[in-house]
Amino acid sequence: MSKRRDNAFTQHILEIRKYPDKILRKRCEDIEEVASYERKIFSEMLFTMKYFKGIGLAAPQVGLLKKIIVADIGEGEIMLANPKIIKLKGKDKMVEGCLSIPQAQVDVERAYEVIVEGLNEKGEQIEIKARGLLARVLQHEIDHLEGKLIIDYLPFLERLRFKFFR
Ligand code: ZN
Repeated sequence: MSKRRDNAFTQHILEIRKYPDKILRKRCEDIEEVASYERKIFSEMLFTMKYFKGIGLAAPQVGLLKKIIVADIGEGEIMLANPKIIKLKGKDKMVEGCLSIPQAQVDVERAYEVIVEGLNEKGEQIEIKARGLLARVLQHEIDHLEGKLIIDYLPFLERLRFKFFR
């Protein structure tokens, strides 16, 4: 990302939608192409994610029903439009949090390895092979695009408790 001074004025922190905001339950639309508008969204989402110390963020969390996700676990920024999981392998369990549900910590079982395809910030079709934490973050963010949240992985009674006795 450019460190030019004018960027300080064009970058701003987006509002994070919090559960039970209904937008978090909606399905997102495909992106037709990655042009300047989409690149601006990528950039603002990354900025917002880092500001709130997140490692992944999906468009509905900032109020946009578009298939766009960003992630950075400290190994480089990932920007993907229309991400699609094409391969899942292995299993792994880990406690996850979510910027949209700050009060929840949920043990989630996910695949240990994934291959995800999508469009990068240049609009190129790419494939990302990930394992461990990055694979988990990608699966978490792609869930968001389908309206799925970490609390959906809670056992039934705990899920009810979360819904009514937060
Ligand atoms: Zn989340």
